[in-house]
Amino acid sequence: MASSYDVFLVCGGDGTINEVINGVMKSEIKPAIAIIPCGTANDIAAILGIPKNYKRALKIYFKEKPMLMDINQMNDRYFVYAAASGVLSKISYDISRNALNRYGYLAYVFEGMKDLAQDYSYKVNIKHDEGQLLTECMMVLGLSSNRVGGMRLYNFSHSKLNDGLFELRVFTRKRRFRRFRFLSSFLRGGRKLREDYHITSSKLDIKTDDHVVWNTDGEQAATGDVLIQVHANALKVYMHPKVKRKQFNSVPK
Ligand SMILES: [Mg+2]
Repeated sequence: MASSYDVFLVCGGDGTINEVINGVMKSEIKPAIAIIPCGTANDIAAILGIPKNYKRALKIYFKEKPMLMDINQMNDRYFVYAAASGVLSKISYDISRNALNRYGYLAYVFEGMKDLAQDYSYKVNIKHDEGQLLTECMMVLGLSSNRVGGMRLYNFSHSKLNDGLFELRVFTRKRRFRRFRFLSSFLRGGRKLREDYHITSSKLDIKTDDHVVWNTDGEQAATGDVLIQVHANALKVYMHPKVKRKQFNSVPK
């Protein structure tokens, strides 16, 4: 079906966009994607600088040209911006509809606090472009930008949305009072702590325990071992011109 359209205008949140991307990536002809953000979580729209006001969003679509953007893949699922396992990563699908309707974004925060109260760790063996990392961790967070869960992690990375690379932070368990250090890292915009690892790679082959649950773009995607790949310049996507300048490497003419 995707082959007979030029543009898909997607009204929805991150979950809906993720479904559309999974359909389009499997199609041979790929229409450009334009988003009208109207979900509970609108991280993807925020990354692309698309305003919630649909009239202002439409203005961008009439004025701007779409740009090719990287799309990522974990095992057989495609995703746009985030992959995670460990503490805090279960949040978005554990949360009850009820709490979400009543408390909105705060419900995510409370859910996250509950998760942090538990001790949790698992082993990972990660093969990447430059080598291999073997460690024990409490969370793995991979991002193609600097936003997740409504937070702007301005110190997470300076990667671009079309550089063919994915950024992975491995939060280890090497220190005492780890949870407090962990939270402080998030409060400081995702700054890397000494004991943590940050990997930039086009491909990540991760071996881990069978019980480890992975989510991509906020939806459960896999358990146990995963392979993450970046498909460089895979889809045409509409965005705010400021995002084009800041989050994209300029394309040679
Ligand atoms: Mg990138």
